[in-house]
Amino acid sequence: MTGSAGADSPLAPFATLAALPAEEFLAGVEKAAAHFDAASYPQRQMPAEDWAVLTRAGVLLPVLPAAYGGRDSHAEMCRVVESLAERNLAVAVYTAIVTGLALRPVVVWAGEETRREVLPLFAGPLAPTAGFASTEPAAGSAMSGLTTTFEKVEGGYRIRGRKHWQALSATASWWLVVAKRDGEGGREYGWFVVERGDGFRTSQRYDAMGLKVIDYGVNDIDAFVPAHRRIDIGAGNLSSMVDVYLSGRALIGALSGGFLRRIADEAHAYADTRRVGRGPLSSIGFVRYRLDAIDGAHTVCAALGHHVRTRLDLTSDLAPAFPGIQAVKIAATELMVGAANHYQQLTGGEGYRSGSPTNIAAQAFLDSRVFTIFDGTNDLLSQQLAQYCLDRSAGGGLGTFLAGWEPTAPAVSAYGLDLRFLDGTLAQEHLVLAGRVIAYAFAAARVLEWAAETGAATGPVRRAVAFLEADIERVRVEFGLLARLGADT
Ligand SMILES: Cc1cc2nc3c(=O)[nH]c(=O)nc-3n(C[C@H](O)[C@H](O)[C@H](O)COP(=O)(O)OP(=O)(O)OC[C@H]3O[C@@H](n4cnc5c(N)ncnc54)[C@H](O)[C@@H]3O)c2cc1C
Repeated sequence: MTGSAGADSPLAPFATLAALPAEEFLAGVEKAAAHFDAASYPQRQMPAEDWAVLTRAGVLLPVLPAAYGGRDSHAEMCRVVESLAERNLAVAVYTAIVTGLALRPVVVWAGEETRREVLPLFAGPLAPTAGFASTEPAAGSAMSGLTTTFEKVEGGYRIRGRKHWQALSATASWWLVVAKRDGEGGREYGWFVVERGDGFRTSQRYDAMGLKVIDYGVNDIDAFVPAHRRIDIGAGNLSSMVDVYLSGRALIGALSGGFLRRIADEAHAYADTRRVGRGPLSSIGFVRYRLDAIDGAHTVCAALGHHVRTRLDLTSDLAPAFPGIQAVKIAATELMVGAANHYQQLTGGEGYRSGSPTNIAAQAFLDSRVFTIFDGTNDLLSQQLAQYCLDRSAGGGLGTFLAGWEPTAPAVSAYGLDLRFLDGTLAQEHLVLAGRVIAYAFAAARVLEWAAETGAATGPVRRAVAFLEADIERVRVEFGLLARLGADT
């Protein structure tokens, strides 16, 4: 068991990392990632010396501008979390939080004084960690219920309130915090870069079900923040600030492919070696069906990761990519959870053992389960996505709109998807289900695109899309079920 990934780390000297060619840099990250392999790395809060193994390998450099010693590379940000996720999903999340959610807003929106104060700390071999503080006990999905306030005081701002469930709650030194101010002109939301010593205190620790390398809890804030550390995200209302929430969701698309590559490899290896009766598990038809589902999820997430890496840019404004990123987050996370479930089922009782020597199914299930909940619960994101498309459908019906909408149209025509069941009046529950359909149709279109650009074999592509079509059919059935339930009341 790897207790600490320490001094033996075979990495390039830190000073040379910023200038290394991409492949060499990423090879160093992969070497460091091997220390954290889910099969052996302990399920406990990551010690600082292990975080140092990652920072010495340069995992923070892709998000940092070149002027601050960084590599300023969106594609590398994606590939870093993807290769970490293949080894250890929780370690990939840890890194994505620090880079995509906490540091990116400082890089993109902070003034020069704040950038000069904060970014150099993260550009060295022994960097601290940073977190993102949005959720509150009474405000998760509905951010309009936020109670943390800010007020202008001499030289800066006073922020008071309570947050919870922040990744790295008790350990991060720097925070990005959102608060509100109610004034005569109405409500205004503000974002602040807060150092723990400014008045950020963890009053309770949570015992999370999975992702054990990350610490969570309740955070009480009573902080004075100098004026320059207010950062200018959006126009002060929630809808103009959506960009700040999108980077984490996009990075989930990037890391999902790494996680599912590992799950697919592990599931096949287990099914080929475990004997049930006279033959291997993989000789059973239904086990092969589960393996097909896992392979399909892997193919789709490889395509979504390709889309995030080649079509988006986390160093710039993500707001125009809103519907696509919502779709990526919904589809990738539903597939991750589904595949982890299939994998655990086919490993039987052995898959229910933490630390089993034969598989990582328990860990994969516990670590992936929260992906449909955090970073915006999928139910809410689905509703938002369906509403976004409905608002653009000009009364012509959602299904009809999707047949002509550029992000979904190629899949609708290539696979003959009939989405007209979405054309009627849609209540809230229909919108949530319709959002899933949009995410699956979007994903099917990305699979087509990815296959054309990478020359992927047609067999696995066709099978992966068949699972997405089945997911869409399931929603059609659920529409019927909702109608029956409604008729019964
Ligand atoms: C492991 C973990 C890590 C996290 N990391 C962070 C972090 O780093 N920073 C941070 O600020 N927050 C973080 N969070 C908080 C997370 O983003 C919230 O938990 C999430 O947004 C949901 O909010 P909530 O828990 O208040 O759930 P609620 O808002 O109470 O929602 C509960 C459930 O109600 C249902 N629901 C809600 N709205 C709708 C809707 N419109 N349609 C259908 N169903 C709906 C959904 O099933 C939803 O899951 C984390 C949470 C977890 C568990």
